[in-house]
Amino acid sequence: MAEPKSYRNFIDGEWVECAARETFEDRNPADRSEVIGTFQRSSQADVEAAVEAARRAHRRWRQVPAPKRAESLFRMGEILLKRKEEYAREMTRDMGKTLKEARGDVQEAIDVCYYIAGEGRRMFGFTTPSELPNKSCSSLRMPVGVCGLITPWNFPMAIPSWKLIPALVCGNTVVIKPASDAPLSCYHLVKVCQEVGIPRGVVNYVTGGGEAVGAPLTRHPGVSLVSFTGSSETSRQVNLACADSYKRVSLEMGGKNAMIVLDDARLDLAVDGALWGAFATTGQRCTATSRIIVHKKVHKEFVDRLVERASVLKVFAGVTRAMRIAREEIFGPVVCILAADSLDDALEIANDTLYGLSSSIYTQDLNKAFVAVRELETGITYVNSSTIGAETHLPFGGTRRSGNGHREGAAHTAIEVFSEWKTVYVDYSGKLQKAQIDNN
Ligand code: NAD
Repeated sequence: MAEPKSYRNFIDGEWVECAARETFEDRNPADRSEVIGTFQRSSQADVEAAVEAARRAHRRWRQVPAPKRAESLFRMGEILLKRKEEYAREMTRDMGKTLKEARGDVQEAIDVCYYIAGEGRRMFGFTTPSELPNKSCSSLRMPVGVCGLITPWNFPMAIPSWKLIPALVCGNTVVIKPASDAPLSCYHLVKVCQEVGIPRGVVNYVTGGGEAVGAPLTRHPGVSLVSFTGSSETSRQVNLACADSYKRVSLEMGGKNAMIVLDDARLDLAVDGALWGAFATTGQRCTATSRIIVHKKVHKEFVDRLVERASVLKVFAGVTRAMRIAREEIFGPVVCILAADSLDDALEIANDTLYGLSSSIYTQDLNKAFVAVRELETGITYVNSSTIGAETHLPFGGTRRSGNGHREGAAHTAIEVFSEWKTVYVDYSGKLQKAQIDNN
């Protein structure tokens, strides 16, 4: 077995030990005797150094033309593509998802780099006529400042990339704190930033616990925006900390995602979708299928088929909506099945949750599908497909306790999160003109 490597923080363009010179071990979850590496057990002092570096770098990085910033991000995509296999294998050791899924995780980061690189030449603002003569009105996107990025362990490269890459193209600088259970893939991403020549201080990487590193980042007055993905419970603390210092905060949280199977559904497809949605990544996806609501006419047949296919796994049937298992996120390979009398009943059960991330419906009736798309109170809805499998160029996020109204992923909506609008009025009339007053 290879000697465990020692990984450092990346602050102001240097790989450094944390102030306390303490480390923690990152172990392979499939073989706890394998230490993958030691990472810095950082604290507030390291957060402060990283934020200070990011603040200094912001003055210069914001002046780099966005198409130039984007060229570096495109090159990141090229390097990630070249190293996809290597990084996927390391990810599997680091956090335990299968190699096939780890490849998908790295691919997501590649897709984000390529898509967002295009934004460097778009990032559209708009122009509009003025109500006054000889005056122009337009709007531009400006960077927000220093962004604190806090990420979970289950998509250890994809989720950091959703935040890091759009933040950079918009001209922000960042301090990123990955989950302590899986900090290695984010380390690789940051290494690639360095390799493509992103200037010192623009990207800072600080490892350590949520209380020790995440919390000081959310409270730091030099941080203008916090983008957080994790559980709803932690999100609440992040939200409160950000409120105290008036930070912009984007929260991507958990889910209790429902799949509806109507009596006209293709059951073979629905069973495939249920197995994939509930048990892929051992159910450790925020969009994992957690409740399956089946029309009573096909309930027995669906359960029989699902149980047969999942016989090696544990499946909970006969659940009622009041049970804890039907209400709280489990974040594991567990799914419960509820019976419904009709589409309306199924929709009511599906919406009877504190969460609102993803949902799906299986039906051959187009009218019912469109009703469900309209009525399901989630940020994402699939028709005749499982609740998982988002594509990076579409908005990703949820309602209620699954999100706070922002949409990340890499869609243009991520640009909304990481930029501020600046409205520009140019009066070339040569006289004082007063809006709302001169023309009325
Ligand atoms: P978690 O909430 O335990 O941790 C997330 C991150 O927050 C970690 O980096 C952690 O160290 C940090 N943290 C902990 N306490 C903090 C504090 N007080 N202040 C600031 N940061 C703090 O979540 P997890 O177990 O890593 O991930 C699983 C959860 O993430 C599930 O609920 C899942 O649904 C959710 N998730 C959501 C999405 C999404 O896009 N909606 C995607 C993936 C995972």
